[in-house]
Amino acid sequence: MKSQPVRTRFAPSPTGLLHVGGIRTALFAWLVARQNNGQFILRIEDTDKVREQKDADKHIIACLKALGLDYDEGPSQDGESSERGNHGPYHQSQRLEIYKTWAQKLIDSGRAYADPYSPAEVQAFREEAQKQKKPFLYRNHRPTDPPKWDGSQPLRFKSEPKSYTWQDAVMGELSTGPEVVDDFILIKTDGYPTYNFAHIVDDQEMNISHVIRGQEFLASIPNYLNLYEALGIERPVLATMPHILSPSGNKKLSKRDGAKDLLEYIKEGILPEVLVNFIASLGWNDGTEQEIFSREELIEKFSLERVQKSGARFDEQRLIWMNGLAIRNMDLSELYELCSSYMPRSSERTSEDYKKQVLGLTQERLKLFSELPELTEFFFSEPSEADVLALFKDPKNKRLKKLDNTQIKSLLDSSIASLEKSNFQIQDVEDRLNQLLIDLDSKPGILFS
Ligand code: GLU
Repeated sequence: MKSQPVRTRFAPSPTGLLHVGGIRTALFAWLVARQNNGQFILRIEDTDKVREQKDADKHIIACLKALGLDYDEGPSQDGESSERGNHGPYHQSQRLEIYKTWAQKLIDSGRAYADPYSPAEVQAFREEAQKQKKPFLYRNHRPTDPPKWDGSQPLRFKSEPKSYTWQDAVMGELSTGPEVVDDFILIKTDGYPTYNFAHIVDDQEMNISHVIRGQEFLASIPNYLNLYEALGIERPVLATMPHILSPSGNKKLSKRDGAKDLLEYIKEGILPEVLVNFIASLGWNDGTEQEIFSREELIEKFSLERVQKSGARFDEQRLIWMNGLAIRNMDLSELYELCSSYMPRSSERTSEDYKKQVLGLTQERLKLFSELPELTEFFFSEPSEADVLALFKDPKNKRLKKLDNTQIKSLLDSSIASLEKSNFQIQDVEDRLNQLLIDLDSKPGILFS
């Protein structure tokens, strides 16, 4: 395995919006780089031209920026004239010549061959294996005399099946038998490499010391180990992240469980620092009861060894709770700076001082900035009579809905008259309303609903 310097990478495929699993991988890789004074590299793995989505790379860059996960090397950001770093290009689609050179090394050493079969023929082999209840292995059909590779056929790796035992920084010691090692495609007929090939070439070319990635690649690692050997590459540290599970914990997290595009959370007013803290807690803790970590603490305390092997439950309610906690602990002026743009439209006519006062009153209860209009609207606009009456007619309000409009108005008028003179200290408001109850000979349930 490789020794220092530490260089980690985040290598997303631009096939859609970045979700919490992807950004957790990025965060862990970033933390490992930062705590070792190493480098964090962003590489865009855009070799699947069918699934690629326009501008998904820009979205990925925007997410990293929003969370403050700065990269030392990678594609240019808005306003930058060139890429960062000197191991580029950092889009795989611009590295095709590099893959060809490495593919040629494998062809020359007899470890890659042109795959002469059509997809239908490969499918027939697969079905035959299924019928015989045997796992399908391509290498059982390896052609004895393959044609010279000219790019019109897939280029396949010629594996050397064997058992492996290796150390994963998260999963611990893992072993597999030779039956999981197979001949896989290195270069497709569209000229693009597969992930299986390209990431190994790039990690080597970019001097990556730690490969930190999702669990979906775990089953393929024996194939990668075989390819490292064939290429004479000393493999990096491998670290496999556990799955992120739905809130109930019984299946993988999906969009239906509320997993959103990362930028959505920021738009709703989740603080980036809270998001970073929350994402770090998906599968990692420092071994104590501590839940709230600053970025500096995370950099200091994070370790791959303390990432759990089993799936990590995603609980959006916990994220919102953490945000509320951070908001409560914030200095009012700082909070105002961050969330004044979320105040309701009707607040525009009022002074900054008044808005701050309103925010101060709401701070205790506020969990998401996007809730501010609903929570504060009534401080800024006089409700219409119809709005007020509608509130009282809420069917959930069992007692009040029995009152007619004249009774409601009269109750409200007396309440206003009584509270108008209040200094709005809790005790005073309470005393006045209690007095009103006595005066009106009313039940508390009606007045305090
Ligand atoms: N391009 C792969 C993906 O987005 C990345 C896997 C890796 O980190 O190596 O799933």
